[in-house]
Amino acid sequence: MAQVFAYLVHNDGVLDDSAMELINAAKAVSGDAPTAIVTGSGIDAVAAEAAAIFPNVIKVDNAALAYPNAEVVRKALANVIPAGSVVLFAHNTFSMDCAPGLSVKMNAAFVADIVGIDGVDGSTLKVVRQEFGGEVCTHVNVDMAGGAVVSVRPGTFPADESKSAGGSVTDKSADAGDLSANRKFIEIVAPEAGDVDITKADILVSIGRGIEEEDNIEIAMNLKEALGNAAEVSCSRPIVDAKWLEASRQVGTSGCTVKPKVYLACGISGSFQHLGGIKGGLIVAINKNPNAPIFQAANVGIVADILEFLPALTEKIEEM
Ligand code: FAD
Repeated sequence: MAQVFAYLVHNDGVLDDSAMELINAAKAVSGDAPTAIVTGSGIDAVAAEAAAIFPNVIKVDNAALAYPNAEVVRKALANVIPAGSVVLFAHNTFSMDCAPGLSVKMNAAFVADIVGIDGVDGSTLKVVRQEFGGEVCTHVNVDMAGGAVVSVRPGTFPADESKSAGGSVTDKSADAGDLSANRKFIEIVAPEAGDVDITKADILVSIGRGIEEEDNIEIAMNLKEALGNAAEVSCSRPIVDAKWLEASRQVGTSGCTVKPKVYLACGISGSFQHLGGIKGGLIVAINKNPNAPIFQAANVGIVADILEFLPALTEKIEEM
């Protein structure tokens, strides 16, 4: 069985929560103790955090890896990971940049944005992907004989929050090789801070394109009012792109990361970019399409028209 590695991302010195899902994804591939890899500059604390989740951690520490420059990370990974290995990424905008090129460098198979693992049969990894915006699922056989690079959609595997691995960290910085780059990293642009801080809300009434018209946003605002001070209205990116709500209310990989107690996803399809911004809490999805991908990530799914359901819910809450 090929060795399994999970590439972990971190931000401002804190490991991304996707690490806790990747450990379970890795176990679904090999069953054995997988190895995590962290890259960056001055990453001892992040490597120690990773060792609480993974039994084995490799760190590659180099000033050239200080920023998420996929070109440089790819070079380091290709030098550190043995040929024929399976490498897992959390599916996000960074992995979309880094993972395909890594598979080329490793001469390995590549499959992106998987939403399930059906099992392993010899050197065949059986995975599930979604096509046509989640309308259909495809079952894909990946030949791992020469290695494989796989990105896993956030929310596909449960997070192992026990942090009891007590793993060890191996420093492979000296093996990273030439980390010169044609691509220069300039800056990280954080999302604008607005008047509303959706990251602090206990309940988010989050609206997507299913809200249909700007005037209908009032329906979500009414529900938020009925829910009281703990609630706020957030949204998916098309709502911000249409300038119906400010950018500070956007949830997702290019918006805010939120961890409310309850996340009401109203008329939101469940793209990985959106789900990537939801880090916990009870997800209640309301969508009129029973096959919408959001139902895969939701704890509670309600097939309904939000333009009818939200006013009815508001009325009930007001009565209570
Ligand atoms: P859609 O995908 O159009 O889904 C609308 C949903 O509403 C559908 O499931 C439909 O069935 C349902 N619906 C329609 N009418 C009703 C109704 N009356 N009642 C109930 N349900 C209804 N997106 C983000 O959200 N956040 C990000 O940070 C983000 N970053 C991105 C970064 C990049 C680089 C790229 C390329 C994209 C990014 N996106 C982001 C966009 C993302 O890919 C999706 O396009 C977006 O999340 C879709 O938003 P949506 O679910 O609101 O719309």
